[in-house]
Amino acid sequence: MFEDKNEQRTPLSELGEFGLIQHLTSMVELQHTSSIKGIGDDAAVLEFDKKQILLTTDMLVEGVHFDLSYVPLKHLGYKSVMVNLSDVYAMNGNATQITVSIAVSNRFPLEALEELYEGIHLACKKYNVDLIGGDTTSSTKGLIISITAIGEADKENVVYRNGAKPNDLLVVTGDVGASYLGLQVLEREKEVFKVNPNSQPDLNNYTYLIERQLKPEARKDIPQLLKALEVKPTSMIDISDGLSSEIIHICTQSKVGCNLFEDKIPLDPQVISTCEEFNLDSTTIALSGGEDYELLFTIALDDFDKIKGNPNVTVIGHITEERDGKHLITRVGQKVELTAQGWNALSNK
Ligand code: ADP
Ligand code: MG
Repeated sequence: MFEDKNEQRTPLSELGEFGLIQHLTSMVELQHTSSIKGIGDDAAVLEFDKKQILLTTDMLVEGVHFDLSYVPLKHLGYKSVMVNLSDVYAMNGNATQITVSIAVSNRFPLEALEELYEGIHLACKKYNVDLIGGDTTSSTKGLIISITAIGEADKENVVYRNGAKPNDLLVVTGDVGASYLGLQVLEREKEVFKVNPNSQPDLNNYTYLIERQLKPEARKDIPQLLKALEVKPTSMIDISDGLSSEIIHICTQSKVGCNLFEDKIPLDPQVISTCEEFNLDSTTIALSGGEDYELLFTIALDDFDKIKGNPNVTVIGHITEERDGKHLITRVGQKVELTAQGWNALSNK
């Protein structure tokens, strides 16, 4: 971490735009029958049979969304894909293709882009997604990555944010809060490094947190699990900004209220121990941290038996009438109004 590796630096100008694209994408092999034509023509050609198509884009800007002083480019490439796939899974669909557009300054040598694409290709392979195109251009400063993900779902399986009903259960996958804490650990190490470049950070107590921040995994498995359990959520969203703000999105769009139970929120032991060490409130971190890329959904009460005891999901609350408001029920039984503080709000403190 943080090292300037003094590796080979091939200027991008040596390859030219077409040479660069060719170099970065020559190994792509299309896997999906829906991918008729990928990279190499004026447009990609796709063909889906009777499915509804899901399409989503996210842009990541250096200095705003990532800091290359502690984010390895390979991880950045991987995470950029995850961020997009997560949105497709949040519609209860399967991601099938992505396009990748990059704007890059001449500060970046070819080797840097190779690393970035290593992460992108790894994500595509692991999640069975075809890279079918993109755009490559220069920027005056820094790196910008924009990825578009395409997915498919049967019409009757698509899940929107606006279908939650009173008495539905509120369910979250995995655990929350770790990614934000991972970022805090990395930021802290960056400051230490600035003061003493020879310091060797001991990050053993934070491995899970750092992994969640640098190499999140989108929940491709959840739409499959829900299908196998024969559960169709009434609403669903992925957790990018923070549990609290995502719950509020579902409630607002569904015109309902909710009770979220503090003692039910799933936390990894490293989140609990690190919050104690950093003197942070773990519930605040879980609610406002963000970048968890877990899925939050609601199900009819009748479906509870189908998910009961499944280790991938935790019931954290229930939906109420809109007029009852959106509340957190604390461990001591206090009712507190939920507010939408995303990770941006937290990081500006
Ligand atoms: P055009 O001039 O028609 O925009 P480009 O020269 O930009 O075409 O792109 C040529 C081909 O390479 C297209 O298929 C495009 O989708 C693909 N492509 C361009 N940049 C990237 C990239 N960064 N990653 C993946 N594919 C890319
Ligand atoms: Mg182009």
